[in-house]
Amino acid sequence: MKTEGTLYRPPLEAKTFLLQVTAGCTHNACRFCNMYKDKQFHMIDDETLIHNLQEEKRICDIYERPHKRVFLMDGDVFSLSADRLEEKFQLIRRYMPAMETFSMYAAIRSIKDKSDDDLRRLKNLGVNDLYIGYESGLDDVLEFMNKGTSLADSIEQAQRLNEAGIRHRALFMLGTAGKGRAEESGLAVADLVNKIKPDVTRIATLSIFPETPLARDVEEGRFEPASELEILMEEKVILENIKDLPEMRFWASHILNYAPMDGFIGRDRDWMLKKLTRTIDEFDEASFRKNFTRNQL
Ligand code: SF4
Repeated sequence: MKTEGTLYRPPLEAKTFLLQVTAGCTHNACRFCNMYKDKQFHMIDDETLIHNLQEEKRICDIYERPHKRVFLMDGDVFSLSADRLEEKFQLIRRYMPAMETFSMYAAIRSIKDKSDDDLRRLKNLGVNDLYIGYESGLDDVLEFMNKGTSLADSIEQAQRLNEAGIRHRALFMLGTAGKGRAEESGLAVADLVNKIKPDVTRIATLSIFPETPLARDVEEGRFEPASELEILMEEKVILENIKDLPEMRFWASHILNYAPMDGFIGRDRDWMLKKLTRTIDEFDEASFRKNFTRNQL
């Protein structure tokens, strides 16, 4: 497989066929993010795509296990126009005719760029399970982090996906509001989730990676990170305040989370809340500092 630079995929796609269709992120400017600093956004040429598809097809044929799902990388494949996406899907299906689902990261601005007809067409072509990085439910945090979108836009575009029947997965990071705002931030995330109704809510935790603008903000006093206890409290507030979404998966087993958990709101919320409450009650700062680090994704 020929690929460019460091590749990222959501943990929930660990068993999915991964195919790099673009490199980098069109925005590449969130203050906390170090994911695609090694590349400028561009499309992967068809020659490379065909090489990779042929190679993967050979493996599928040997094991007689055709792929039905693909996760398209890198950060922003949904920024391609609906026509471009359709071309890519046709190319993939030429080698993998059983393909049913095309999943990928999607930015709010890339959904906004598409008409309702585009979204319905993409749904019919197999687009589902779009991963959307909301990170926070607070407008001032989105602005400070330079996320490039607003809360109002986020809600409107997620609702358009729901109307088009495209499933989507909401990504949030605990701690993005900084010190002293756990309850406010947790309530805002829960409120946003209640409005956008994703299929999965994925909770990770903010990490201050070296050489990011956010690392400089911390050094120069513009951002004070939340304490670990505040991060756990924020997670608890989110979980307590999600309403009417019993089928939604609450996936908080990210490598950056101190209290990993994974369950469905209707079936599993009680034990997840008990686990969080116990973790908060028994939290020992010294042991946490000794045993837990957040230095890589
Ligand atoms: S967080 Fe997502 S949108 Fe922001 S720079 Fe990183 S990859 Fe791009």
